[in-house]
Amino acid sequence: MKEKITKIFDSIDEISKENKSQKVQVIAVSKKKPCSEIIKANKLGIENFGENYLQESLEKIKNLKNEKIIWHFIGKIQSNKCKDIAENFAWVHTLDRLKIAVKLNKYVPVGKKLKILIQVNLDDDVNKGGIKREEVVSFKQEVQKLSNLDFNGIMIMPSVNADDGELKFIYEEAWKLAKEISEPSEKKCELSMGMTRDFKIAVEAGSSMVRIGTGIFGERE
Ligand SMILES: *Cc1c(COP(=O)(O)O)cnc(C)c1O
Repeated sequence: MKEKITKIFDSIDEISKENKSQKVQVIAVSKKKPCSEIIKANKLGIENFGENYLQESLEKIKNLKNEKIIWHFIGKIQSNKCKDIAENFAWVHTLDRLKIAVKLNKYVPVGKKLKILIQVNLDDDVNKGGIKREEVVSFKQEVQKLSNLDFNGIMIMPSVNADDGELKFIYEEAWKLAKEISEPSEKKCELSMGMTRDFKIAVEAGSSMVRIGTGIFGERE
C-alpha cells in the first residue's frame, strides 16, 4: 500500500507543480474495505476517507472514532439516512436534491457545519445522480440559505463509459463551472473529481479532491 500511495502522490505532484495554486487532496475510498486497511492507510498519511454505503460506514466510523480521520460521504443519499449522515460525516459530496439539503440541515448537530459539494451531471447520463449545469447557480443559492450547511464546491462523477477524451472534456467543463460559480469574495470552490482510472486527467483539468479506491486498497470484492 505504501508504494501505491507514494506513486499516486508523486503523479499528483508532478502534474500540479505546473499550477502553483493547485492543492489536491486525496480521499481514500474505503467502501467494502475493513477497518484494518483504513488504519493502514491512515498511518501512511491519509486523513480523508470516502464511504458510499451508510450502514457499513457507521460501523467503521464508530470503531475508528479515536483515529484522526475526516469522513466523506460519497454515495447516493436516501432521505431516511440524512440524520446519520449529518451526524457522522464532515463532508457530503453527492448532494443533488433540495429536499435532502433541507433534511441534512435539520439534523446537523449544534456547533457543527456540514461541508457540502453539489453533484453535477455534466454528461446528461440519466443513470446517475447530479443536477444539470444550468441548475447549479440557483441550487447553490438555496443551499447557502441553510445555515448548518457549508457550501464548498462541486463533485463530478462521469459516465462509466466515457473514454479519455470525453473525461478530459467533462473535467475541463467542470473546472470552468467551478470558476464561474466562485465569486471573487468567496472562498475557493472545491472540485471533487477523478478516481483510480482517471485521476491524472482530472488533476490536469484542475481537480482539488481526487477519490481513489482501488488505486490504494486494491480491487474490491
Ligand atoms: C467507488 C467510488 C470511487 C472510487 O473508485 P475507484 O475506481 O476504486 O478509485 C470514487 N468515487 C465514487 C463516487 C465512488 O463510488
